[in-house]
Formats: sequence, C-alpha cells, structure tokens
Amino acid sequence: MTGSNVLSMFSLKGRTAVVTGASTGLGQGMSLGLSEAGADLVLVDCVPSSDTAERIRQGGGNAEIVVADLMQMESIPSVINAAISAFGRIDILVNNAGIIRRADAIDFSEKDWDEVMQLNSKTVFFLAQAAAKDMMKRRYGRIINTASLLSFQGGIRVPSYSASKGAVAQITKALANEWAKYGITVNAIAPGYMATNNTKALREDPVRSRSISERIPAGRWGMPEDLKGAVVFLASAASEYVNGHVLVVDGGWLAR
Ligand code: NAD
Repeated sequence: MTGSNVLSMFSLKGRTAVVTGASTGLGQGMSLGLSEAGADLVLVDCVPSSDTAERIRQGGGNAEIVVADLMQMESIPSVINAAISAFGRIDILVNNAGIIRRADAIDFSEKDWDEVMQLNSKTVFFLAQAAAKDMMKRRYGRIINTASLLSFQGGIRVPSYSASKGAVAQITKALANEWAKYGITVNAIAPGYMATNNTKALREDPVRSRSISERIPAGRWGMPEDLKGAVVFLASAASEYVNGHVLVVDGGWLAR
C-alpha cells in the first residue's frame, strides 16, 4: 500500500460485496455505504431487497438481489454461486443477517436457542468458509461479521443472542488467524443500540428506551448510516493491516 493516496485506499471500485440481511436496517445502511464507495452489491435476504437495490441503482451503482433463507445450510452454495455468476467474484462478505428472541432465561425455549444460534453464528461461519474459498483464488478478501455490544455484555432476556454474538467475536478472531496468509482479513463491527426492527420492542418499552438513551454518551440511538464509514474502512485497502478486530460503533456506550 505504500505510495497510495489515502483517499484512494478507501475506494471499492471493481470490488464485489455480498451483504446478508440487506433488505432493511443495518444491512441496508452498510450496502448503501459500500455502493457509494464503488462496490457492486449482491443483496442477500429471505425477502427481496428491492428498496435497497432501487436506492443503489438510483445512485448509479450495481446491485443484484438474491433471495435465500440463511437459516437453511443448503442456501449457502446457492448464494455463493449467484454472487459469482452476477459479478464473477466475491471480494467482500458482510455477514449481517441476524435475529433476536426475547424471553426470561428461566422460560427460554430450545427453539429460540437453536434458531438464533443457527442464523447468527453457524451460518456466519459457513458462509465465511464458502466465500473464503473464492477469495483465496485471488489471495484477497475482506470478511466483516456483525457482532454486538452483547459480544461483550450479557444482555437481559436474550440469552441465545448473547451466546451467538459472543461466538461471532470468537469466530472472527479464529478465522483472522487462519486466513491472513491468503490476504483475507476477518473483522467485525459491533453496533451499539441502533434504531431498526431488531430493537423495536426496546424502543416501544418507555422504561428501557429511556434508560438506554440516557446511557449513550452521543445522546441518541444509532442509525443504519452510522455504520457506513466503519464498513467501508474494513472492506477497503485502508484496513489491510487490521485483522481479527471487533470495531465498536456505539456512540460511546461501552466507554461509559
Ligand atoms: P433487522 O431485523 O432490521 O434486519 C435483519 C435482516 O436480516 C432483515 O433484512 C431480515 O429480513 C434478514 N433476515 C432475517 N432472517 C433471515 C434469514 N433466515 N435469511 C436471510 N435473511 C434473514 O435488524 P438489524 O438491526 O438491521 O440487524 C442486523 C444485524 O445487526 C444483526 O446481526 C443484528 O443482530 C445486529 N445488531 C443490531 C443491533 C441493533 O441495535 N439494531 C445492535 C447490534 C447488532
């Protein structure tokens, strides 16, 4: 990277990025950011990412929609094949699709345990494995997983979510160790409390909503756009020597 202009190091022109859970929320925000930086986008979700695709195309970018239920392991090869047939390669994978289930730990069901662990951690690992096989051919790749503040803290009434996001942080480090030699970096973004469907129940609970807002030094909930800078950095040449890191984007919550 020596000799490159620093701004050109953030350009994603000619790169293909696969983003899961791209139809709404943080996946949509990150997809728009990656497109603004020049990447071609493969938008993966269990519902069509039509709004995201339209916004990317309106901005002059390229986007391909792939509908896949990532709870099913057999979706993984079809997602990889669809991405490669659309743009010829995968340079960037953003493992963002995730779910949360809320119940007291004492009553928590096996179904709510298994489904959250399946999508939030097992799929994250095997999709990264499948994408890395393509990235290794060119000895270049950027894998960005979506962790959480609950990769660090225990949370309340979300035990499978906390377990799954703890696993995301550890999967990130494990893969970073093994794949650095192939030119692939594996990092994670840990968003703070962001205003999306995932946190609707919290924002509708006046007591929890107020106590969360009061604790955020930035004085507001995060928005999907707040992840654009972090994802472009971790997806680009600018982060070449950053590996195995969990980047917290939380308005200062963890520092409090
Ligand atoms: P969201 O519910 O708005 O979006 C989740 C996306 O994943 C949706 O587009 C949904 O359709 C997709 N999805 C769900 N199940 C799927 C499946 N089986 N197959 C394919 N796609 C599926 O939530 P969000 O807040 O945007 O969450 C995105 C990621 O960020 C998740 O991993 C979440 O855990 C994480 N996160 C969110 C927050 C927050 O405060 N919102 C904080 C930390 C981490």
